[in-house]
Amino acid sequence: MDALLLTRRPNVRYLSGFSGSNGQLVVSADRAIFLTDGRYTEQSRREAPDLERITYGSDLPKAFAEACRALGASRVGFEAEGMTYHQYTRFAATGVELVPTTGEAEALRWVKEAEEHALIRAAQSVTDAAFERVAGKLVEGATEKEVAFELEAAMRREGADGVAFETIVAFGENAAEPHHSPTDRPLGRGEMVKMDLGGLVGGYHADMTRTVAFGDPPARLRHVHEVVLAAQQAGIDAVKAEAVAGACDEAARAVIRDAGFGEAFTHSLGHGVGLEIHEPPWLRIGGEHVLPEGTVVTVEPGIYLDGVGGVRIEDMVEVTADGCRLIATSPRELVVL
Ligand code: ZN
Ligand code: ZN
Repeated sequence: MDALLLTRRPNVRYLSGFSGSNGQLVVSADRAIFLTDGRYTEQSRREAPDLERITYGSDLPKAFAEACRALGASRVGFEAEGMTYHQYTRFAATGVELVPTTGEAEALRWVKEAEEHALIRAAQSVTDAAFERVAGKLVEGATEKEVAFELEAAMRREGADGVAFETIVAFGENAAEPHHSPTDRPLGRGEMVKMDLGGLVGGYHADMTRTVAFGDPPARLRHVHEVVLAAQQAGIDAVKAEAVAGACDEAARAVIRDAGFGEAFTHSLGHGVGLEIHEPPWLRIGGEHVLPEGTVVTVEPGIYLDGVGGVRIEDMVEVTADGCRLIATSPRELVVL
């Protein structure tokens, strides 16, 4: 390939510093041309001052062809996961030979630099503060939607730029859905509350799940919480630089399986977090890649019991040479409110 066209926003942001909603990069071995529309001329000058740029009206493929001519590039890679089929046909019509690629820029993002770690910690810190503020004030009759709104408002109040994803709040049996959308269901005494939340700071995401009890919970769910916590600890103990991703998943999954809940852990153990809420490296069954020092991943086992409820405990960790470091400060053991 003579050059690579980047269209996925987090990759464009990572490589150029441009944080707006529409920008592309064409990168050759020694030059890079930034493409954007008229709305972002000023912002891109400020955020990516050192890049050559082409501003276009609405014809991105034409601007792309112009950049390729300037770079002398006729065979150009593109991000297969960052383009619709419709867009592809328009780029292909320019006559530039297109080569599909996947994960090229993402791979550069696996290992975080000090500045990125600081932003992730800042995002987690607003998340911890919001959790503490809202969990302590849960009242009977509050709805899932109200609690989700309070968590999001608290993160904003603590200085978040926004939320990392739509906050999940699930009461009682609703927690059996891993990614439950908050409803008008009111909270009752003796129910478990699952909250999955995260703040966004400087483009970087946080991701944390806590399952707390509002009053004395059913003995079965208290037991499930113990199993999930033990599984999470086993996962955390397995995560370190050079650990194989699939082995980390298995370390946590084995605890849940041995406790008889194997079928009820229906998703993978974790994912990378950074400029995207879900990004590589993935911690899933059979994952063969090894974790590099300095990457950030979640460890989030869960047990989901149809009609009964569910428990997930999720933390982001920084992978170090001999283990990993928890980023959140919120307690992981069962909190009974
Ligand atoms: Zn997660
Ligand atoms: Zn989460």
